[in-house]
Amino acid sequence: MTDRIHNFSAGPGVLPEPVLREAQEALWNFGGSGMGIVECSHRSALFDEVIHSARERIKRLMGLSDDYEVLFLHGGARTQFFMLPMNLLRGGRASYVDTGTWSYGAMEQARRYGAVDVLFSSRQTGYDRIPGPGELPKAPDGTVYLHYTSNNTVAGTGFHHIPQTSAPLVCDMSSDILSRPIDGSKFQFIYAGAQKNMGPSGTTVVILRRDWLDRCDPDLPEMLRYGIHVAKGSMYNTPCTFAIYMIERVTAWLEANGGLVAMEAKNRAQADAIYAAIDRSERFRGKADIASRSTMNITFTTGDEALDTAFWQGAAECGMVGLKGHRSVGGLRASVYNAQTDGAVTALSDYMKEFEANHG
Ligand code: PMP
Repeated sequence: MTDRIHNFSAGPGVLPEPVLREAQEALWNFGGSGMGIVECSHRSALFDEVIHSARERIKRLMGLSDDYEVLFLHGGARTQFFMLPMNLLRGGRASYVDTGTWSYGAMEQARRYGAVDVLFSSRQTGYDRIPGPGELPKAPDGTVYLHYTSNNTVAGTGFHHIPQTSAPLVCDMSSDILSRPIDGSKFQFIYAGAQKNMGPSGTTVVILRRDWLDRCDPDLPEMLRYGIHVAKGSMYNTPCTFAIYMIERVTAWLEANGGLVAMEAKNRAQADAIYAAIDRSERFRGKADIASRSTMNITFTTGDEALDTAFWQGAAECGMVGLKGHRSVGGLRASVYNAQTDGAVTALSDYMKEFEANHG
């Protein structure tokens, strides 16, 4: 494919080519219906099959039993920062693990609805690390939930284990959902914006164990109540039909290509290749603590702002985009989500060598 570039964007990001091709056709004539997927009613039998299948595929891939509901909501992951405590905290206390910009954002919203215990924070050291297994202190008695972010998109760190806790576990999986097998039964509540590993932006996947529904504040406006969205099958209002269609196709692609075991191996190999290129170089250095390195977002720098800029600008000229670090931290970042190609990773490693030779 000569008209495609290598896309290392942190999200929206690269999606599987066969899915994009199929979506092109589905925009014109979805499943022989004579209308495009974005033209068909969310209440039609046609779309009903799509949303049902998307739900079932997510449940299968994540090993979720029928105790869990899968919702497709509006407002991005950021809406879950407040919607969750608004529904469930209700003046109680929650524990937060502060490992990055997004965890911090979630924690600050929770303070509106109850007490927050910060069990760990690497804010002082630029969010360079996550707590190791066993490092988190026990959540205080009566904790409603413990919230953590499994992958820190900005800092380039990620958990390689599920934190041990007796409190119900809540996870923002926006940037690593479906990237590796997980034991879904360990979680009470999971949320993730679609736009990294699952599809385009426009919908947020919310997974919740049904036993929590009774505890939600019943006096909230309908759009903010999980129970309403469950009762209406994510169709209390018009959902983002295109994003849900894309999630269904991306999860079908995952299931047809070895599922999350194969995906984890691919992601690991691609991340290792880029980390190896960083570690063998004298020009580049990784930004995250080695044990905390993310397999999705690889953050690195030349140590010189002007050179970092020269790096991503030069990369763009060679057909590689999205390598500029997050605007809040600068530096460089390469995202290797599920659909990232080996060709892109090789091109980046080669370009790093060439850049070092020219700017040693
Ligand atoms: N959490 C994480 C881990 C993220 O990476 C992001 C976005 N990059 C968000 C939350 C916010 O997501 P949204 O833009 O969908 O609100």
